[in-house]
Amino acid sequence: MSIPTSVLAELLKALPNLRPQMYFKSSLIALSHAMEDRVLAGSDSPLAIASFQRERFYRQEAHRYRRIAEKTDRVYILSAPETDFKSHSGVYETIAFDPTDAIAQEWHLVIVGEEYANCLICRERSTPVGDPSSSAMDNNRRFEGIWTFDRAVSCKAAEILLDRILHYRPELAEKIEQTQTKYCQILAPQTIRPEVFDHAAHPDPFVQRLVTYLQASQYKLLKAYRSIAAQEQKERLIHLMTVAIRESLDPEEVLDVAVEQLGQALGACRCLLYRCRETDRTATIRHEFLGAGVPSVKGQTWPLQDNPLFQAVLERKESIFVSDTLDDLRMTNFAQSSVLQELVQTVGLSSWLVVPVFYKNRLQGIIELHHCGTTHEEWTKEEISLIETIATQVGVALIQAEAYANLEDLNQQLEALDRTRYNLVAITGHELRTPLSTIQVCLESLASEPDMPQELQQVMLNAALSDAERMRKLIQDFLTLSQLESGRVEWNPEALSIQECLDLSLSNTLARKVKEDVPQIVVPVTSNLPLVQADGEWLVEVLAKLLDNACKFTDSDGRVSVDVETNGRGLLKVTVADTGRGIEPNRLETVFDRFYQEEGALQRTTGGTGLGLAICRQIIRRWGGEIWAESEGKNKGSQFHFTIPIVESLPKQKKEPAAKIPSARSRKGKAKR
Ligand code: ADP
Repeated sequence: MSIPTSVLAELLKALPNLRPQMYFKSSLIALSHAMEDRVLAGSDSPLAIASFQRERFYRQEAHRYRRIAEKTDRVYILSAPETDFKSHSGVYETIAFDPTDAIAQEWHLVIVGEEYANCLICRERSTPVGDPSSSAMDNNRRFEGIWTFDRAVSCKAAEILLDRILHYRPELAEKIEQTQTKYCQILAPQTIRPEVFDHAAHPDPFVQRLVTYLQASQYKLLKAYRSIAAQEQKERLIHLMTVAIRESLDPEEVLDVAVEQLGQALGACRCLLYRCRETDRTATIRHEFLGAGVPSVKGQTWPLQDNPLFQAVLERKESIFVSDTLDDLRMTNFAQSSVLQELVQTVGLSSWLVVPVFYKNRLQGIIELHHCGTTHEEWTKEEISLIETIATQVGVALIQAEAYANLEDLNQQLEALDRTRYNLVAITGHELRTPLSTIQVCLESLASEPDMPQELQQVMLNAALSDAERMRKLIQDFLTLSQLESGRVEWNPEALSIQECLDLSLSNTLARKVKEDVPQIVVPVTSNLPLVQADGEWLVEVLAKLLDNACKFTDSDGRVSVDVETNGRGLLKVTVADTGRGIEPNRLETVFDRFYQEEGALQRTTGGTGLGLAICRQIIRRWGGEIWAESEGKNKGSQFHFTIPIVESLPKQKKEPAAKIPSARSRKGKAKR
C-alpha cells in the first residue's frame, strides 16, 4: 500500500534545475508558521497541503489548520497515524498514510493561491552515528529540500502530493481532479499575471536574509552544543574510567570498560586494547568491543616489530590514523607494507586509528579503533584528544595491573615461604628432635651405666651414630636445596657417559642392598648411548636420589629398573621405574614440592626429608631438562623420567673426546658445600 518514492525525489526529477538546500528543523518550523500566517492574514482562498511525519507533530498544529479551513475548503492534511488519526472528510480532508511510505521521512507544506504560491518540500537527513547532538537536540534535525515562492515549483509539488492523496483516498477522485484543474492548471505560471508571478518567483530579500540568519544561528547553536556534548562525553568517560579503576580490584575489568565505552562513544566497528612494550615482536588481543555483525579478533596475535604502523607510532610517540586503507599511500609506501595489507584484508579494515598508551614515557599498550566494510571515518581532533585522554587513564590502569600482578606474585612467594617455614618447624620438630632424643638417651645410658655389657654399649653407639647420620642428611639436603634455589652453586658442565654416572650412583644403592632388604635392581648395559652435557656430580646426585626413592617405596620382593633412550629431539630420556607403592594421579606434580611426603612429615616411616625430588627438579632445570612422574595409582608402581641434553645436539658446545666421571669422593665433597 505504501509508496517507496520520495516526493522530493519526484519533484527534483520533474524539475531538474532545482538545487536542494539544507534546513534545520527550527528553520522549517519558522518557515511553515510564516507560510500559514500569511494564509490566515490574507484574503485569498488557497489550496493548502500539509504533510506531517508523525501524528503528534500534526496535533501541535491542528488548531492553525482549523482556522485555515475557515478561509478555504481545499485543505489536505497528511500524517502517519499514531493514535486516532484516520482518513476522514471533515472541516478539511485528513489522509492517514502508511508509516513505511517514503513521505514518513518528509515534511511538506504547499500553498497555492491566486495572489501567491509557495512550497516547502523537504526530506530528513539521517544523522551520522555517534553524533552527540542527534538525540539530545531535536531542533538540530536536518532536512534537505526546496523552499520557494516559485509558482511553477509549488504547482508541481501540489500535483505530486494530490496524486499521493488519491492513492490513499481514491474516493476523493472528483474533488482532487477539481483541485488540480483549479490550482495546478488554471493558476499555473503561464496563466498568471506577470507581476504576480514575478513577485512570487523573487521573494523579498528581507525574507531570504531572515532565513539565512535563522539557519546561521541554529548552526552556531549546533556547534556550541556539539562542543559541550563532546566535553561532557569526555568527562563522562574519564569519570567512568576513574570509577572503574577505583572500584575494581581486577584490572582486566577496567580495560574491558575502557574498550566498551570508547567503542560505543565513537561508534567504532571495533575497538581493541592490548598490552605491549616497545621491544615486543607480537601482542595478543585481550580486550575488544565489537559493533553488530563485526567479526571478532580477540585472542589473535598481532604483529608489532614487522608492523610499520606500530613502528611509526613508537617513533613519533603519537596517534596515527588512516581514514581510507585502500586509498592511503602509507599503506603501500611503508617498508613491510605487505604486513599491513594482510591485516587490512583479514580483518576487513576500512579506517584505522592506532593510539599508543604511555606511562612515564614507557609504552604500556595500544588502543585501536576500526571501521570495517565500506564506511570510512575521519576522526576529528576532539575525538582523537578524547581517545588520548582515555589512553592516559588506561596507562594508569595498566601500571596498576602490573603492580597488582607483582603483588600477587609476592604474596604467593610469601605464602610459599610461610609454608616452608611451617614445614621446617614441623620437620625440625620431628626429624631433628627424634634422633636427638635417641642420641641423648643412648649417651645418657652409656654415661650413667659404665657397667653396661659390651654388646649393649655397641648397640647404643650404633643407634646414636645412625640417628646422627639421619640428622646430617636432612641438614645437608636443606642446605643443598637452599643453595640451588638461590643460584649460589658452581656448575661445571662437561661431556659425560650416562652409563658411568649410573654405575657410580648405583654403587651406593647396592652397598645398601648388603645391609637392608632392597628390591631387585635391573640396569641396562647400553654401550652406544651418546654423551650428555651436564655437571657430573649433580647428575649422579639425581640418579642416586631417584634410585634411593624407588628402593625406599618398593617392597623387597619388588623390582626397580632403569631405562635410557634418546628422544629424537636432542635429549636423552632417563627413566627410573619401580613396582612399589605408586602415587595417586593428583599427587604426581605435588611430589616435587619441598617437604612433600605422602604420609606427612610427622607420620613418616620410611625416613627421608621430603626434599629429594625438589632438589632433583632444581638440578635438572639447570641444564634445561625436565623431570616428571607417572603412576597408575596406589600400589601400581611409579616411573620418574628426566631429560638431559645430548652433546652432539648442542650447537656451540665443544665435544669432549673422553667422558670424565666424578669420583665418589668429589661428589661427597660437593654435596657438603
Ligand atoms: P623423601 O625424602 O620423603 O623421599 P622426596 O622429595 O624424594 O622426599 O619424595 C617426596 C615424596 O614423594 C615421598 O615422600 C613419597 O611420598 C613420594 N615418592 C617419591 N618417590 C616415590 C616412588 N618411587 N614411589 C612412590 N612415592 C614416591
